[in-house]
Amino acid sequence: MKTIKIPVLITLFVLGLAGCSKSQEAKMSIVKKDMDNKITKTEEEWQKELTDEEYYVLREKGTERAFTGDLWDNKKHGDYYCAACNLKLFSSETKFKSGTGWPSFYEPINSDNVAVLRDMSYGMVREEVVCSRCEGHLGHVFNDGPEPTGLRYCINSVSLDFEESKK
Ligand SMILES: [Zn+2]
Repeated sequence: MKTIKIPVLITLFVLGLAGCSKSQEAKMSIVKKDMDNKITKTEEEWQKELTDEEYYVLREKGTERAFTGDLWDNKKHGDYYCAACNLKLFSSETKFKSGTGWPSFYEPINSDNVAVLRDMSYGMVREEVVCSRCEGHLGHVFNDGPEPTGLRYCINSVSLDFEESKK
């Protein structure tokens, strides 16, 4: 990248603007799978569609305060969807009590539906979890979860919509 000349950068910048800005991707080393039907919107479009809190968490990678979301203690049976694009992400079957104050799951409903990125912010190396379809920020995944995966997907309530399953 160091050899790229200024005019090239300007061209890339202009192309980036024309193509619904991909600048978010450039900030991180991405370890993810491709997905069909990706949703890409401008930040202005997201800002119109999402509430302020949803925008802060999903698009600006914010974190809701622990024990303040409406789903961390949700014990109902059902599925959890991306609050931005409605992709099904987690099931109550894999939700567990983590004591952290955020909804916690040991695995996603489908490994293709979430992507994991390396997050180097705040002087830590963490694995960020995003929605594969809209790249909305969901939370982080840690290696201290329960069996059978040993993983703990620590997800913001704000990033999720819950739909109770009918019996
Ligand atoms: Zn999404």
